[in-house]
Amino acid sequence: MAIEEIQELKRIFEHQIALYGHVVSGPDTHTSEPLTFSDPYERIAALVPETAPYDELRRLTTLDDMAAWVASTVLIPLDETRINPVFGVGNPEADLLVIGEAPGADEDKQGEPFVGRAGQLLTKILEAIGFTRDTVYIANILKSRPPDNRNPQVEEVAAHIPILHRQIAVIRPKLILCVGRTSGTSLLGTDSSLKDMRGTFHDYHGIPVMVTYHPAALLRNPNWKRPTWDDVQVLRARYDELTA
Ligand code: URA
Repeated sequence: MAIEEIQELKRIFEHQIALYGHVVSGPDTHTSEPLTFSDPYERIAALVPETAPYDELRRLTTLDDMAAWVASTVLIPLDETRINPVFGVGNPEADLLVIGEAPGADEDKQGEPFVGRAGQLLTKILEAIGFTRDTVYIANILKSRPPDNRNPQVEEVAAHIPILHRQIAVIRPKLILCVGRTSGTSLLGTDSSLKDMRGTFHDYHGIPVMVTYHPAALLRNPNWKRPTWDDVQVLRARYDELTA
């Protein structure tokens, strides 16, 4: 193995340890998967810590119970400054899960993901490939709004991502769309750029994941609309194959 590849692996593993406390997986390999779990959703469910307070979350089997747990549990300081938790919305048995970064001001006020300007654009993008908001499930990496829409911190992601792991285990989506770099890197446990992640499927414990531009980025830079369109068309084609 070349020295650059070793350095790249080291960087990926350090990032995963910072996020999850352990290595989740190497690039394009399943070598760290526990051999006893054959189902992607079981493997993802096993990522939720067995220790308090996550031990309670691990046992919950409905999205409503999980939303109530999130509303009543303080994991990070943002959980005390939010107006509302933003747990997620949509079809609890959706085949497609869309994952954003964190709630903004509008989402914090309404308690629902992607309802502001960027959210309206996300809704249009989904409609352009034949989905309404209620046929898919929409969630974020963080369930509480960071002040002034700053980027989520590593500790905040590490504290909240078990909620998403449990959501995935319960919803059992066949396909995941991550919008924005933070969403992609947080879920996949990499430190790649958006440009490097987009345009191809990543394997997340057996579930194909497409990462594309965040709709807020498209509002700032319309040149990214074309590659986003390409990505979501590829996503739709895979969705049709998987749900045929
Ligand atoms: N941006 C996100 O990433 N998520 C939201 O819910 C709203 C804006």
